[in-house]
Amino acid sequence: MTTELTHAVLPESDIPTHWYNIVPDLPTAPPPPLHPGTKEPLQAADLAPLFPMALIEQEVSTERWIEIPGPVRDLLRLWRPSPLSRARRLEKALGTTARIYYKYEGASPVGSHKTNSAVAQAYANAQAGVKKLSTETGAGQWGSALAFATQAFGLECEVFQVRSTYDSKPYRHVLMETFGATVHSSPSDLTNAGRELRKRFPDTPGSLGMAISEAVEVAAMSSDTNYSLGSVLNHVLLHQTVIGQESIKQMAMFGETAPDHLFACAGGGSNLGGIAIPYVRENLEGRAAVHIVACEPKAAPSLTQGEYRYDFGDTSGMTPLLKMYTLGADFVPDPVHAGGLRYHGMAPLISHLYHEGMIDAVAIGQLESFEAGVMFARAEGIVPASESNHAIAGAVREARKATEEGTSPVILIGVSGSGQLDLPAYQEFLAGRMADS
Ligand SMILES: *Cc1c(COP(=O)(O)O)cnc(C)c1O
Repeated sequence: MTTELTHAVLPESDIPTHWYNIVPDLPTAPPPPLHPGTKEPLQAADLAPLFPMALIEQEVSTERWIEIPGPVRDLLRLWRPSPLSRARRLEKALGTTARIYYKYEGASPVGSHKTNSAVAQAYANAQAGVKKLSTETGAGQWGSALAFATQAFGLECEVFQVRSTYDSKPYRHVLMETFGATVHSSPSDLTNAGRELRKRFPDTPGSLGMAISEAVEVAAMSSDTNYSLGSVLNHVLLHQTVIGQESIKQMAMFGETAPDHLFACAGGGSNLGGIAIPYVRENLEGRAAVHIVACEPKAAPSLTQGEYRYDFGDTSGMTPLLKMYTLGADFVPDPVHAGGLRYHGMAPLISHLYHEGMIDAVAIGQLESFEAGVMFARAEGIVPASESNHAIAGAVREARKATEEGTSPVILIGVSGSGQLDLPAYQEFLAGRMADS
């Protein structure tokens, strides 16, 4: 038996007490969101119909550290600190000279990192006296996370789930319903936006942009309902920084100062931001030189193929204009299995870091991602989420390159979720029926 460390286990007292806001540490400020009507920088009051003041303050904050409220930290204890492990068996399977580590967010109540922000958002809304949250969900992870978090704080939850995954992953809405949420297939006939989209695109598989339009409309029409977004916005990335803060401590337990390469999948950018932003700080302060790589799907390659410009976050043009890498607000990606990565844009903060050359990006095809995911599952005993497979594939590429070049870099993978509910996709891959896209 080896005596070398495999899991770096932190005590509960090492759950971060603060979220880390990178904005005051950046050399240049990210461009502000604009009002969709006036095209002027958005004011806090413009967001008040949709979000509680505590989250708006986080969204525009210039404080470096923001304290995590006690009741939120108490709920985080259910699954944090999350494990960080050395993937020795994956290293062996690859025959690589690289040292590979992974931070696993799939052990949260609903199996992904999304719960980290859901509990913070539900708490802020409950404190503000809101009765219900409306939201969109791609593959269902955000909807399940928010369904869990809302009932924990006594709120109702209404979810618009993208049609393609509502149909292809029926257990996802059962999961949300188990936590007490109401779930609709989007576009639905319950909102003006949904009815209009159904008229324009009768056979659409749906998209996150469409579902956002519906959820925003529900919140805008009702005084006791707020809207909640599972990615993209500054406050969501902020809530996810617990991942990277824990990772820094855990890598030290392995005797590693920092990884040479960090891979995380990127849909809207929240799990990537969560693990990477604390490392961007390490880079800025000269303690590390981590090469950070966003792994996006070839089906929705916003960073590698999109344009950096102001665009809407949704399909119907109801959200503020965000400066981001975008494929266009009406871009509808192929219905690939990584539903959480099918977004036309990218978080403004991640877009800014990419534009400034502080992070890198690659686009990875569906087949390559599942080859890597199955290899990871067989080696480490964890079936990763379809989205996370993109990060693993990025790391596998780097490990193979290192082996060819005879180098031994330290690679850290952000494994954002569990794939237990993605088994129909694995079945398709194993049967050789999966399309590459
Ligand atoms: C939602 C989701 C993603 C994509 O969203 P990001 O905001 O880019 O993190 C990735 N992985 C999992 C498991 C998800 O649930």
